Amino acid sequence: MTAAQIINPATEEVLRTVEFTDEAGVDEAVARAKAAQRRWARLAPAERAEALRAFASVVDAHIDELAALEVANSGHPITGAEWEAGHVRDVLNYYAATPERLSGKQIPVAGGLDVTFNEPIGVVGIITPWNFPMTIAAWGFAPALAAGNAVVLKPAEWTPLTTIRLGELAVEAGLPEDLLCVLPGPGPVVGERFVSHPDVRKIVFTGSTEVGKRVMAGAARYVKRVTLELGGKSANIVFDDCDLERAAATAPYGVFDNAGQDCCARSRILVQRSVYDRFMELFEPAVKGVVVGDPRSRDTEMGPLVSRQHRDWVASFVPDDAPVAFRGDAPTGPGYWFPPTVLTPSRTDRCVREEIFGPVVTVLPFEDEADAIALANATDYGLSGSIWTRDLSRAVRVARAVESGNLSVNSHSSVRYHTPFGGFKQSGLGRELGPDAPLSFTETKNVFFAVEEG
Ligand code: NAD
Repeated sequence: MTAAQIINPATEEVLRTVEFTDEAGVDEAVARAKAAQRRWARLAPAERAEALRAFASVVDAHIDELAALEVANSGHPITGAEWEAGHVRDVLNYYAATPERLSGKQIPVAGGLDVTFNEPIGVVGIITPWNFPMTIAAWGFAPALAAGNAVVLKPAEWTPLTTIRLGELAVEAGLPEDLLCVLPGPGPVVGERFVSHPDVRKIVFTGSTEVGKRVMAGAARYVKRVTLELGGKSANIVFDDCDLERAAATAPYGVFDNAGQDCCARSRILVQRSVYDRFMELFEPAVKGVVVGDPRSRDTEMGPLVSRQHRDWVASFVPDDAPVAFRGDAPTGPGYWFPPTVLTPSRTDRCVREEIFGPVVTVLPFEDEADAIALANATDYGLSGSIWTRDLSRAVRVARAVESGNLSVNSHSSVRYHTPFGGFKQSGLGRELGPDAPLSFTETKNVFFAVEEG
């Protein structure tokens, strides 16, 4: 057992020391979760539904506490953190409807009766990143529990506090002990043990594409099911016929939300050449207007980066000779601050190709629709993106042509708990959220009953 200091990224102060689980701790938790899962799956559907609704109510009663904890641990602006805690409640309520609706099929066959059952998989291992600890955990555990599974959950090393608290609240709400087990610890220890443990039957991994590939390779040993939510390098495509004022005014929030530490960040802005100069004129005041500062303040729109190590990574994309068009402000002094930064590089620069995961955006001009589509798709990723145009046919054509799992036209929204979410290409495998998510936590069992002729 090791322990880690958890740091407030806005002040660099130590918040707390958290005990990290080791491999033996994982094995014990999995054994307990396995037993808890069998009892949970035997409960009446209405009882499981009621337990999830009770969990949602307890989360609702602790929104202020959870939000304050996320502000301190992750540096999220308070308004965003409150939204995140409320989102956990909403996701739980949405999937509380599942146990009573998870019906199989009755399929017409000769000589008998054929039905399918959606059987729970067993123990599900969920591994989350540090950028949205609460919401991403809930996208996994709510549908997994609703489908009759138990969950072992590993939060990221830097940001475990809200996940630990959610685990406590689940028990407080009356969910069976050991059904949702939060196990903080290092990825190469706890995460790898989830992957190698034969009784963890599915892995839901959200994080970098590099580690996701490793998880997928490890899971192959047991033909373990995986859902992967990985990196992104999404495009915000601005056509010359759009409402350019709105496109420019909203573009900062499409990329700098959560200080750019968002897998859906529209970190490549592509602007039709005929309106490029005008867009940049409008974009500059919008970027400079982003309020960066104390995440506890209700006026703050962007907080610090999560850690010193991550700030060094982001800064590596903005060397002294970087093609900086303009930048916003950021506090000086303690805290891992980085100002919103706009680069105008060439199409092949590293900052255009790699996921930065910070408040750095590139702007590139394009010639026509075909060029915009080619540029948007010139990446191994395919998670998100936006299309700005007043031409409905163009919006449909481009939305169908961009290889990405979540697109929005004339807006930057991407995650709603009642619509599916996930990536094309190396941005992931499978989908979370939406009405079908519980099915990805089940195995389809087909049973044929022979019926004798009367
Ligand atoms: P990361 O891959 O470094 O870590 C993610 C999680 O995996 C952490 O909990 C970590 O401890 C664990 N881990 C590390 N090594 C492991 C191993 N060998 N085996 C098992 N688990 C291991 O990613 P990060 O830096 O925490 O998060 C940033 C990345 O997450 C970005 O690439 C971002 O795009 C991605 N992300 C994707 C989505 C999505 O829904 N597609 C959402 C949020 C973040």
